[in-house]
Parts: sequence; structure tokens; C-alpha cells
Amino acid sequence: MAQAAKMSAFDEVNVFFDRSADRLGLDDGIREMLRRPWRELGVAVPVRMDDGSVQVFSGYRVQHNGARGPYKGGIRFHPQADQEEVRALASLMSWKTSLVNIPFGGAKGGVQCDPRTLSKEELRRLTRRYTTNIEHMLGVNRDIPAPDMGTNSQTMAWMMDAYSSIHGYTPGIVTGKPIEFGGSAGREAATGRGTVFIIVNLAKDMGIDPVGARIVVQGFGNVGMWTARLLQEMGCSVIGISDIGGAIYSESGIDVDAAIEHKKRSELFSDMPGVDYLTNEELLELECDFLVPAAIDGVIHSGNASRIKARVIVEAANHPLTPEADEIVNDRGIPVLPDILVNAGGVIVSYFEWTQNLYQHQWEEERVNDELSKIMTKAYEDVRDTARRDGITYREAAFDIGVGRVAHVADIRGFI
Ligand code: GLU
Repeated sequence: MAQAAKMSAFDEVNVFFDRSADRLGLDDGIREMLRRPWRELGVAVPVRMDDGSVQVFSGYRVQHNGARGPYKGGIRFHPQADQEEVRALASLMSWKTSLVNIPFGGAKGGVQCDPRTLSKEELRRLTRRYTTNIEHMLGVNRDIPAPDMGTNSQTMAWMMDAYSSIHGYTPGIVTGKPIEFGGSAGREAATGRGTVFIIVNLAKDMGIDPVGARIVVQGFGNVGMWTARLLQEMGCSVIGISDIGGAIYSESGIDVDAAIEHKKRSELFSDMPGVDYLTNEELLELECDFLVPAAIDGVIHSGNASRIKARVIVEAANHPLTPEADEIVNDRGIPVLPDILVNAGGVIVSYFEWTQNLYQHQWEEERVNDELSKIMTKAYEDVRDTARRDGITYREAAFDIGVGRVAHVADIRGFI
């Protein structure tokens, strides 16, 4: 985890926000309005455990900014999902939906728990209680949750059912649902696929041939797994991947499909045959073309940033670099493609899912992937062109576009 423990994740995100507000010349009042969450709720989530005891978890929903449309953002089930973390992630959602120009604001939710230690029944009860405790904040035109770390399409089915049992059948209330229950084709792979579109675009601009490019993926949840799999399909060489217990490495490239199969049988990579084993720290410091952090925040910090040997860092996770790490790698000339651009594929296909739900229709996967590619490529080009024009980093450009649009719409709406 990050060494700079003094700063919360929300403070760290606001370091990037404040610099952007300076560049954009936002006045103090507007800046303060955009920095702070508009509305937030903390709830107790009591759950009857399988052994008959009751455990009370802490849950949150933070609506950060809704100037550009209904609040949108995932629900995280994780031991670190406290209020500050959820605030940070909600703020990133505001800049992300704005940067890729889809008609949503930014929100995030979380329950501080370790889902790996809960049974399916306990998770179902926890999800339903959390949903009914925040339900009055939600709405198809108000706030639409989705999966995030520790949650998935099953969680969304439970949320939709809990909400619908109060309000009537409402598929558009959450996205990332199972396909057979109002979900969209292509949603599960969307964040990984979007990450790949960004890598392909950047590789072209940098003159790197993706075929044979050396990739390291940190984290093997939904995002890391799909990114590794799709990159390998394109001919990249995935030399390192990791999960919570450690990392595997192969100089000649890991067979990603075999790794996925292995994970279905075994919780960890540590007993996978035919590969070398590394610690997570060693994995991040491997020499490679593209390093893709795809797990938790703060994994690249002031303690290890000077040892990163990647040509490019591609932030598939939310907020994997602390501001200090960002400065160190910038000084070392390592470009960083920022989270609010790279991992926007998930919320973009959530937008398609919501749209399909509103008019009770289903798109083919090909259409989903085509439209995703168009939006991701446009956002990439906007970020690249702004970075070149203003002589700033990709992250700075992404924040300037995202924050600038929200500030502009708040102004024309007459928010204040
Ligand atoms: N949790 C994802 C994110 O961080 C997706 C959010 C959504 O689809 O609303 O972008």
C-alpha cells in the first residue's frame, strides 16, 4: 500500500483536481463546490450471519457531482472501502463520465467488508439490506449503481430485485446485470476491452508494435483478467500477472487462458505449474512495454516509483498511483495513461445498458463493442491533443477536459 499514509485517497485525488482547477482558472467558490461531494449517506448494514450471529457493516453512497446527468458509479465491497475511499472514487467518476462525454454525473458506493470471507447467502442478505438502506437516494434518473471491486452481476441482480420489490420492475436502476436479467452484451469485458483500445491507440502513436509487446498486469479480477486475455488474443506477450497472493512470470509469455482455468480451480496462482513466482512488488518492477495496474489504489507510491521499468503505465485500476509516484514517473519520462480515461469502458457500456433498459431493447455485442471503440478512441484523441497543445501530461489533460466540462455545465444550468 501507499507509504504516504497521511493523505487520504480523497485528498490525493484532489491534488490532481486542484492543479486542474488552477490551470482552468476556476474561481474559489466553484472550485470548492466541485471538490466536495454534493450529497453522501452512511448506513449501518446489519446482517444475520450463517451461524446465527448478527454483524453490522458500514455502508456508504456518495453522490459527488450531478451537473451533467444522473449520478453513476459502482459499489465496492472491500475492507478498505471507507468513506474517504468512496469519496475519492466518486470524484473520479465525475471526471471520468465527463471526459468520455456520456450524460452522467459521478457517484460511488461501498460496504466495508471482505466478501471472500462471506458465504453467498450472507452476501445476498448484505446486498439487499444495503440496497434498501440507500434506496431513497437512487432512481433511474437520479443515481444508477454498477459493479466495482468485490461485486459482480449477481450483486446487481440482488440490488435490482431489492429495489424493484419497492418500486416495481426497474431494470435501469443498476447496470452490470446478468444478460438474462436486463444486462448488456459486452458489459463484463468492457473495462478490459476499453483498456485494450487505449493501449492500441497509444502504441500506434508511439510506434510500438502491439504484436509481441511485453505486458505486465497487476491484479486478476474482472478488469485484469479481461485485459490480459484480450491483449494476448491480439498477439501481445503477457509476461507477468498477479493476484492477491503473489505473481507469476514467464519470459516467453504466460498462457493467459491456462491462468484463467487455473484460477477457476485454485484461489491463488502460487501452485500454477510451468511459471516462475514473484512477489507483487517484484512484478511491478519488471521491465516491460506496458505495465497495467488493475487492482487496488496506491500500489505505485514514493517508495517504488523510482524502480518502475515499464515504458508506459496504463491505469486500469482507479487511482493506482499516488501524486508523489505520479511526479516521480513523470520526471523519469514514463508516460501514464490515467484511470479516468483507461478504465472508462465499464461505465460507457453501463451507459449503453441503461439506454437499452430505458427502451426495453437489446443490442448485439458487435454494436456494443463498436460504439465503445468510437467513444474510447475519441476520448483518447482529445486527451492526447490537449496534452500536446498545452504541454501537459495525459493525466493533466484528462482532468482539464473532465473538470472543465462539469464546471461549464454547472454554470449554464445556473446551479448557484
Ligand atoms: N465501477 C466502474 C468504474 O469505476 C463502473 C461504474 C459504472 O459502470 O457505473 O468506472
